[in-house]
Amino acid sequence: MILRRSFIRWFLDSTRHSLRSIVIGIVSLVNIAAIAQGSNTGEVTPFELANLLVEPGEIVRGEITINPVNGDTGTFIPVTVLHGKQNGPVLSLIAGIHGSEYSPILSMQQLPSLLDPSQMAGTLVIVHIANMPAFTGRTVYFGPTDLKNLNRSFPGDSSGTITERIAYALTTHVIKPADYLIDIHSGDANESLRPSYSAYYAEAGGADVVSQSKRIAVAFGLETVVQFAGSYDSVDDAIYTSAQAVTLGIPAMDVESGELGIIDDKYINPITKGALNVMRELGMVQGQPDLPENPLFIADRARVYSEHDGIWYADPLVSTGDYVTEGTKLGMITDYLGRELETITAPASGVLLILFGTPPVNEGDAVVVIGEIGEL
Ligand SMILES: [Zn+2]
Repeated sequence: MILRRSFIRWFLDSTRHSLRSIVIGIVSLVNIAAIAQGSNTGEVTPFELANLLVEPGEIVRGEITINPVNGDTGTFIPVTVLHGKQNGPVLSLIAGIHGSEYSPILSMQQLPSLLDPSQMAGTLVIVHIANMPAFTGRTVYFGPTDLKNLNRSFPGDSSGTITERIAYALTTHVIKPADYLIDIHSGDANESLRPSYSAYYAEAGGADVVSQSKRIAVAFGLETVVQFAGSYDSVDDAIYTSAQAVTLGIPAMDVESGELGIIDDKYINPITKGALNVMRELGMVQGQPDLPENPLFIADRARVYSEHDGIWYADPLVSTGDYVTEGTKLGMITDYLGRELETITAPASGVLLILFGTPPVNEGDAVVVIGEIGEL
């Protein structure tokens, strides 16, 4: 049985209708942005990132080089740095940790043209495609050569496999220099995902880091905000990008917007708008974040992991974004000859955030993620 929550639908529909005008508005708003109020005084010094040097008021496009070791060819990470003329925080945005999650990557292609570093306070570091091997290799979850998941590889290893070396370079050059970090994802190329949401660690990194992480997750301005549970004893345990950041004491958040390799403004534009919202919240550009009145708050997530290799069939009666009750049938898995192996049902009542959307399924895959509604 499926209970469709009309207010969730309303949130989504109203967002869709207003997106185009929002993005048109972003261009004019940001172009006229003056120096943010309350900026720190004092001379602004050049900003260094790897081998890049960025003067105040300048934008520099370049790359972080990952040298070849262990017999592979190495790679690079394309980055843009905008360094304001006024002092302010360093905000790092990372797209493409998963190379087939395209809406974050395409949003970060647009963002620099909406900003003028001569009118900014602080520094914006944009990682356009963190995982070039996965992007050019068109892989889901894993790098194509070492079969490692970059978002399980932090803090990385300077002499490890290529995915581990990418993680090490990101930790060194992008995460550690940041005052705030946003790691931007979508559903991967095999995952349906709705609604778009921001997320933060509610228990990791200490009270101040949690408070600041929540601040930017809410300021991003999506209608759904998710809390991640858990904390980490050491940076070696913090294998996720934003977990690494908060364990280092750097406020961080995640974004999920988009699905199934689809290119659509309804997934791309909320990321662009959200990044600008956080910059406003942090005083890097003028203005106040444009926020929804009543964001939906997800206090916990429940997953179902496949117990078999086989073929996945999502139930045709459910869609991501639906409110489902515990026990609702969400799909089934058959063997490669069509014989049913298991039925997948909702492990809890809540919003169906992620549902596998393509046939291949492997034992241990998280085929379903349910968001359990809570209070912000
Ligand atoms: Zn991802």
